[in-house]
Amino acid sequence: MECLRLVAYGLTDRGLKRSRNEDRFLVRELEGGTWLLAVADGMGGGARGDLAAQAVVDVLAEQPDFPDPADEALAAALLTAHSRIQALVGENLGQEDMGTTATAAVFTAGWVYWAHVGDSRLYHQSRGRLRQVTTDHRFLQDLLADGTMTPEQAAVHPLRNVLDQCVGCSECRPDSGRFRVEAGDRLLLCSDGLTLHLDDKEIAAALTAAQEPRTAAEALVQAALDRGGGDNVTVIMGESSSSGYTG
Ligand code: CA
Repeated sequence: MECLRLVAYGLTDRGLKRSRNEDRFLVRELEGGTWLLAVADGMGGGARGDLAAQAVVDVLAEQPDFPDPADEALAAALLTAHSRIQALVGENLGQEDMGTTATAAVFTAGWVYWAHVGDSRLYHQSRGRLRQVTTDHRFLQDLLADGTMTPEQAAVHPLRNVLDQCVGCSECRPDSGRFRVEAGDRLLLCSDGLTLHLDDKEIAAALTAAQEPRTAAEALVQAALDRGGGDNVTVIMGESSSSGYTG
């Protein structure tokens, strides 16, 4: 059986329009070549979105391990973060809107397990083809999915940024799943500060042009800044490679 290893790199930038960075991310190698990757994009006008995003990262980092199936363990961790954020809201009147997106993935033994709430994204690039694994939990998503609204109409709609669920909000029902990876596959986790400025075709082209995860992540963040840096932008890039075979 072929053994796969991962190289991963993450970075975040405040962007050019926001006074604070409320995105948080986690890139951590666990035992046995397992990796934990996560992006959380905090939100809430006067509320402290960064506290909500940090709570997601903290809860994930506190997990001693991710037993199989790791997708269910990740989803359970997001629900733990949800309870923790709601407790924070209870302690701090006036922070009622505090919440965050959360997109988390575990890479282990040739599989990626994931859990997701909100509009940060997980992409999988395999043999040159880029696929958005997660579905955005946006208020307009159903209208986009059934063709009632075009992506161009959605891009200028006043409710385009409204989420129908988030970690810490009244609705939090994590999606989760798993897929196989091959040597040479790439993973991208990002906040909407990237996808606000780059479409999937442009993201795929940037990934193909970059030699390694670090240069790919840096190129994507720079591209978002070059187009105005309208939001905090966070990118995690991972690339799998073969580390040999076992019986
Ligand atoms: Ca954002």
